[in-house]
Amino acid sequence: MRFETKAIHGVRTPEKGVENWGNTINLATTFPIKEYNVMQEFEYSRVMSPTRKDFESLVAQLESGKHGFGFASGMAAITSIFTMFKAGDHFVLGLDIYGGTFRIMNDVFRQFGFESTFVDMTDLGKIEAAIRPNTKAIFVETPSNPLLDVTDIRGVVAIAKKHELLTIVDNTFMSPVLQRPLELGADIVLHSATKFLGGHNDIVAGAAVVNRDDLAEKITFAQVAMGALVSAFDSWLLLRSMKTLKLRVEKAQANTLKLLDFLRSHPEVEKVYYPTAPDNKGKTIQESQAEGGGSVFSFTVKSEEKAKSFFENLKVALFAVSLGGVETLVTHPSSLTHTEFPEEEKVARGVTRTLIRVAVGIEDADDLIEDFKQALAK
Ligand SMILES: *Cc1c(COP(=O)(O)O)cnc(C)c1O
Repeated sequence: MRFETKAIHGVRTPEKGVENWGNTINLATTFPIKEYNVMQEFEYSRVMSPTRKDFESLVAQLESGKHGFGFASGMAAITSIFTMFKAGDHFVLGLDIYGGTFRIMNDVFRQFGFESTFVDMTDLGKIEAAIRPNTKAIFVETPSNPLLDVTDIRGVVAIAKKHELLTIVDNTFMSPVLQRPLELGADIVLHSATKFLGGHNDIVAGAAVVNRDDLAEKITFAQVAMGALVSAFDSWLLLRSMKTLKLRVEKAQANTLKLLDFLRSHPEVEKVYYPTAPDNKGKTIQESQAEGGGSVFSFTVKSEEKAKSFFENLKVALFAVSLGGVETLVTHPSSLTHTEFPEEEKVARGVTRTLIRVAVGIEDADDLIEDFKQALAK
């Protein structure tokens, strides 16, 4: 089956019978034991529950993997996965990694003896140079936020294989519609399902997918031990949302290309950042590992006052953090999502006061263009 068909019919199995064909939700936390001293698949829902199992199966199918895992949030997925490592282990991550991932490595796991080095992930040489004898994994998030820099997933996988490390990819920004890291050789792919998989800005959830049975065993153990799981209700909402994943991702990407065309020729706009923009040095890599640039982009305007009035005057797009939902959201990275960095460091990285990030939704493109036009005119 191909992507859209799997998304719609992937968890419909004949064994379940007609009364349980795939649209059902099972909220039970305990399941009566059928036979004394015989283990059964469903006993207690932290260990396994039917609706979570369906979600996990579907996300695995869409990421071209064998084993899927549902978590309470993207951060719960990342946290739980890292518990497979031990004190003294070292990790290489991107300098512009998601803030929550930076925080968990720097402020939490460091206390437990994990070591991390943050490098410019657009440079494979710098990634390889950061590897130490105790390095265990390279953690990739591509494209990066908010400047949409691209990391060469195949290149990282080759380095990781040479040094016997795991490649972990946060695939939140692309979704499995546009990029499937396991097909490129990654070992673990993970998501904030709060974004595209959920898609409607009303679920907080996370997911991970692997092919290797030994990794699946470790992640299953982490799920049961930590218990940071997605609920049955949210699993069911996710199953419903994922049926339209491809339609949503493609429409949002098409809207993005139209908005970019409009902004590129706008006199108030200085520069746009997008993975497949002609001046993005990762353009060719993006085109070789993903089907398009996605629906998140950033742009700069000529002054901070212009940025402020743009946010204040939007009538369709919302001034809000997050991405991957049906609503277009615009945010100001400098004051909202990258607050943990000192001003000079932000500016050095390109996260200036005049930078605006846009997470494009699936509204009518002309309404979005008109909205941006009137907000930039104020
Ligand atoms: C939102 C996000 C996360 C964290 O996910 P939550 O569901 O908010 O815990 C991790 N990585 C990326 C790239 C994200 O955008």
